[in-house]
Amino acid sequence: MSIPFDLHTHCALSFDGVSTAEDMVRRAVELGIKHYALTDHVDLGEFADPDFDLEATVNGARETIPALQKKFAGITDLLYGVELGQATQDYETAERLLRENRYDFVLGSTHNIRGHKDFYFIDFSQTDPLPILSAYFDETAELAEWGKFDSLAHLTYPLRYIAGEYGIKPDMSIFAPAIDRILQTLVRKNIALEINTSGLRQKIGVTMPDADIVKRYRELGGKLITIGSDAHCTDDLGKGIAEGIKLAKDTGVDKIAYYKRREVHFIAI
Ligand SMILES: [Zn+2]
Ligand SMILES: [Zn+2]
Repeated sequence: MSIPFDLHTHCALSFDGVSTAEDMVRRAVELGIKHYALTDHVDLGEFADPDFDLEATVNGARETIPALQKKFAGITDLLYGVELGQATQDYETAERLLRENRYDFVLGSTHNIRGHKDFYFIDFSQTDPLPILSAYFDETAELAEWGKFDSLAHLTYPLRYIAGEYGIKPDMSIFAPAIDRILQTLVRKNIALEINTSGLRQKIGVTMPDADIVKRYRELGGKLITIGSDAHCTDDLGKGIAEGIKLAKDTGVDKIAYYKRREVHFIAI
């Protein structure tokens, strides 16, 4: 079975991306992907990678992606996306970028909490994960309340390191009210929840968020699901999408959302 879509991927326009945008699109075509989003990083806040030139990335994508949309028109539906990290830490820049760029699709994410570097850099053998998780959910709730994005990316991202890399299994039941608050805000604001399949190929071994949280979003009335591999190279493109679709179906979803010019469309699954 070919892969119908992949709605979260990075090319070398991202500080941590590997393959060129054109190589990524060619690979998507090879895989038979019909709706394919490049969502390069735009990370805001004081802890963004110092080598990362925000304007150069944004302008690079603005030149590259629409040209590729023309080149591959009729072959694949290339979506000009962005992964906007930490809008909570610089709302002014976030809103300016959204005004200045005609994105098809905007992912909202939290890679670090105020006052801390990316969770990737935190030594959880020396740091209690509970206050970090608590702050993460609070800041993500704020992000959802701001709400100027289409889909919330990889909810529970710190667990990739806490559970995956450090093997610590925190009691997540204490965060149920905080997670509910985020999910309720998404439902109220008509924002999608992403099933990010990158965890399936990492030590954490499950999607972010996992099936229980996707089920909870559905129980609370959530209808909009996007699915992305979070590939940073051609090799990972499309990975885990089939599993993500199965998970979505298990929660009673029969269509996956994607966005064009910030408007929702659906793909039957
Ligand atoms: Zn991310
Ligand atoms: Zn990403």
